[in-house]
Amino acid sequence: MASSDVVRQMVRMRSMFSRFGVFCPFCGCVKFGTVGDKNARPLALSGHVGFDSLPDQLVNKSTSQGFCFNILCIGETGIGKSTLMDTLFNTNFENFESSHFEPKVKLRAQTYQHIVDYIDTQFESYLQEELKIKRSLHNYHDSRIHACLYFIAPSGHSLKSLDLVTMKKLDSKVNIIPVIAKADTISKSELHKFKIKIMSELVSNGVQIYQFPIDDETVAKINTAMNVSSDAHAEINYKKQQEKGFICAVFTFNNPKGSSSVRCGREYGGVENENHCDFVKLREMLICVNMEDLREQTHTRHYELYRRCKLEEMGFKDTDPECKPVSLQQTYEAKRQEFLGELQRREEEMRQTFVQRVKEKEAELKDAERELQGKFEQLKRLHADEKSKLEEKRKSLEEEMSAFSKRKAATELLQAQSFNASTNNKKDKDRKK
Ligand code: GDP
Repeated sequence: MASSDVVRQMVRMRSMFSRFGVFCPFCGCVKFGTVGDKNARPLALSGHVGFDSLPDQLVNKSTSQGFCFNILCIGETGIGKSTLMDTLFNTNFENFESSHFEPKVKLRAQTYQHIVDYIDTQFESYLQEELKIKRSLHNYHDSRIHACLYFIAPSGHSLKSLDLVTMKKLDSKVNIIPVIAKADTISKSELHKFKIKIMSELVSNGVQIYQFPIDDETVAKINTAMNVSSDAHAEINYKKQQEKGFICAVFTFNNPKGSSSVRCGREYGGVENENHCDFVKLREMLICVNMEDLREQTHTRHYELYRRCKLEEMGFKDTDPECKPVSLQQTYEAKRQEFLGELQRREEEMRQTFVQRVKEKEAELKDAERELQGKFEQLKRLHADEKSKLEEKRKSLEEEMSAFSKRKAATELLQAQSFNASTNNKKDKDRKK
């Protein structure tokens, strides 16, 4: 950060402390409150207290320890994200260009979900660090997103529905600052109309983009000017927006290296020329004036919302149904009891289900047994019937056989008798001869 920026932020902090800080000579602490706070005891200072050096201490601490400020750039490929970042920090970020030649094109719905998940993951990491027994937040690498530069394609017509949906999904999670990319590719009048159109679309769709704070008098003037217009667009009806709680600024950016020197009938100078684009304003607002507010908003508004939802999801509450405050221990105990109750209920449910199943199975087995017994009895009866029938048949056959034997014996007797008779006759005849 440039030294002038540090000084500017320092002055801002100093004015803040001098407005809100009250020093207590008894305990040596500084009490903060509004000037009209009835609880604050105004005391005449006997000498130099020195707490006005607090901003210097904070600046020294920040410069020696360092701090994290993360910017997320969202926009289609080739819209100028890397160029803006390189220009903003006057450096060359290590970019590993990824090939855009996918073998197949897959259309995915809800592409913003990846961004939402990424932002949530950073919040989650911070929350996990905060919930640790041994926390090391002072040297924690904060990867939460403090500012999100949303790049809008310079179509000149209106916002794409994907942009609107994405911004709507992100506005409760991150400080969105819209930037019209490659502003040199459309004429100044078109750009002016485009800005107004974008802002009215954001307002009508209830997209809450980052509002530059105007409550601090040291930056109120510059932020108001920026909120009203980054291009003096009076037609946007700024007052109406303020009433609705929307104050927004859409920045434009055109890269002097990326663009040709003459475009759309006008000549482009350096990126620092405020007539050509809002680069200087964006840099001022992002780094010099509102960096601390962006960090603070991220922590106190977006992270707090994430944390609250997450803890509520886990069943933690500040108050019970009768609106009485509940301590963490009480919540833990209540949750434990609830869990044990649930466990017991499930155990009982499982036991009941098991008994029911056993009963059903037993009944099923008994039915099967009865059925088998019936079949067995029936087969037994059939067998007995068959047996008696066969017995009868055997008896009749035996009778037939004995009758046959008798008839056979009689026949044989008759045959023998007739043979004897014929033999005797023959003998008689022979004798007579
Ligand atoms: P990214 O994929 O979004 O990171 O896009 P890059 O920053 O790599 O830019 C893609 C191309 O657009 C490069 O050739 C840049 O020179 C060019 N470019 C970047 N900014 C501008 C701009 O403001 N105006 C014009 N005309 N071209 C730009």
